[in-house]
Amino acid sequence: MSQSISYKQSRQRKWLLARRDDLLAQIDMTRASRLGGESSRNAETTDFKDLVDQQQQTTLRDSELGRDLDELVAVEDALQRLADGRYGLCADCGEAIDVRRLLAYPAAVRCVTCQIAFENLRVPK
Ligand SMILES: [Zn+2]
Repeated sequence: MSQSISYKQSRQRKWLLARRDDLLAQIDMTRASRLGGESSRNAETTDFKDLVDQQQQTTLRDSELGRDLDELVAVEDALQRLADGRYGLCADCGEAIDVRRLLAYPAAVRCVTCQIAFENLRVPK
């Protein structure tokens, strides 16, 4: 492994670790606010509209939590690939992922071409 690659990877690693801390802090906060919501539900709530509002807020928080957890998994995965020396290689075609793409999104698993193909598969036509 050349010096320049390990230098670049150590920067990516630092970025990924910082992102992981951010996500963990955010997930903690979301969880804490959800616990708050649950305890206030114990209070007497007879107004149906209040219940619906609470429900919607919980759902919104859950989807935020879901997104954070998804990204956390992607970041953890990228750190693992970094440790294995597979980082920066497309999971589908095995080609090197464009450096600009990795800088924009260090947890990227696929090259642009494969990512587009992957997303087209997921979008119902
Ligand atoms: Zn690819």
